[in-house]
Amino acid sequence: MSAGQWLIAPEGVSWFFDAGAPSLDFAAAPEPVHARDLGEWLATRFERLDAADASERDLADAMTLRATIERLSTAAADRETLDPDDVDTLNLFGATPDVPPALAGGRRQAGAGRLRTGQALSSLARDAIAILAVEPERIRRCDADDCRRVFRDESRTANRRWCSMQRCGNRAKVRAHRARLAAASA
Ligand SMILES: [Zn+2]
Repeated sequence: MSAGQWLIAPEGVSWFFDAGAPSLDFAAAPEPVHARDLGEWLATRFERLDAADASERDLADAMTLRATIERLSTAAADRETLDPDDVDTLNLFGATPDVPPALAGGRRQAGAGRLRTGQALSSLARDAIAILAVEPERIRRCDADDCRRVFRDESRTANRRWCSMQRCGNRAKVRAHRARLAAASA
């Protein structure tokens, strides 16, 4: 269900990060500066949503939800108690109408009812509630000491260690290889 996204690392390299859940992808996305940034990001996840629908009010809501998901998922990854105020905020977002599922092939025009940005935010909040409530032990941090990014391990064997195999996984392999060479030549 999670789609992941391309991010730009501080050193300028783009890399693909699949956080393992739509709500965690949302928290990991670049901070939206304008309502339009928010609308465009949400439109890539909710195809019936018009990117132009996002208002300044939606942007403020999104920033609150994003920070809340970030704090709660980090606490879950660190096996800490969730802040009750954050839990209340998340539940409040999740209690509003979300994006309803729609099956293609009906007689009515698709998208007859206009989808609102708030519904997309509610869907993301509900996703966060689901992953924090069910198997929260799957929410973990990247093993790399200089990364520690939060993701949800969706793998069947629940043994994902890295935010990205191409990024931190590879760096760890290179380090291990160098250490072996150093040990062999010592
Ligand atoms: Zn990492």
